[in-house]
Amino acid sequence: MTEGKGFEEILKCWKHEKVINDEKVIEAFRHVKRELFVLPHLKEEAYVDVPLPIGYGQTISQPTTIAIMTQGLELKNGLKVLEVGTGSGYQAAIIGFIIGKRGKVFTTEIIHELVDFAKQNLKKAAAKNVEVIESDGSMGYVNEAPYDRIIVTAACPEIPQVLAKQLKKNGIMVLPVGTLEGQKMLKVKKLDEEGKLFDVKNLGDFVFVPLRGKAGFR
Ligand code: SAM
Repeated sequence: MTEGKGFEEILKCWKHEKVINDEKVIEAFRHVKRELFVLPHLKEEAYVDVPLPIGYGQTISQPTTIAIMTQGLELKNGLKVLEVGTGSGYQAAIIGFIIGKRGKVFTTEIIHELVDFAKQNLKKAAAKNVEVIESDGSMGYVNEAPYDRIIVTAACPEIPQVLAKQLKKNGIMVLPVGTLEGQKMLKVKKLDEEGKLFDVKNLGDFVFVPLRGKAGFR
């Protein structure tokens, strides 16, 4: 199978460079087929470690970027996770696999056509614990708050306070924060109920498409 072969090459790199060591993350990448989340004419490139266009000026992120963000979330069985920026649905499916049947992913997307694209892809991948919501995710999704984990897969001008509020105490949020030209991937742990104390780690430099909406780039 082409998917297995292609992905094993990426895995070898991860092992060699010691970037990804969480076995749950590696298992999820083996299980969730990226080819189900790319445009039909790009299937051959599904297991190349690059971002790929999904239309409407948006992308499915590079596998290594997705793996770094997923590992940063420190996922466990049964968690409730919010994703901002569904795109193709691939990142949500990876998270859904790791948190299992008792867990749930709520993922928000602002572009109507991508909501439909992601829903179709997630159905093909049988990702039953992922719910796609069409909304401005920069405001979070208050209906299901608070969350154990929050991930933002678009560049943020700053840490959106509203998202920090919707995170549980001791919850973790992973998001790229910076300018339109480049961002630091921040792993933010909320240390108190009110959302005033955070432990912040930098997971490296990345370039994402901009977050839109109220807390996004103007
Ligand atoms: N996680 C996606 C995947 O696995 O394919 C990749 C996400 S893509 C890099 C960023 C996505 O964020 C785009 O689909 C974009 O439309 C979406 N987005 C940007 N601003 C948003 C907002 N305020 N609310 C929800 N989605 C937003």
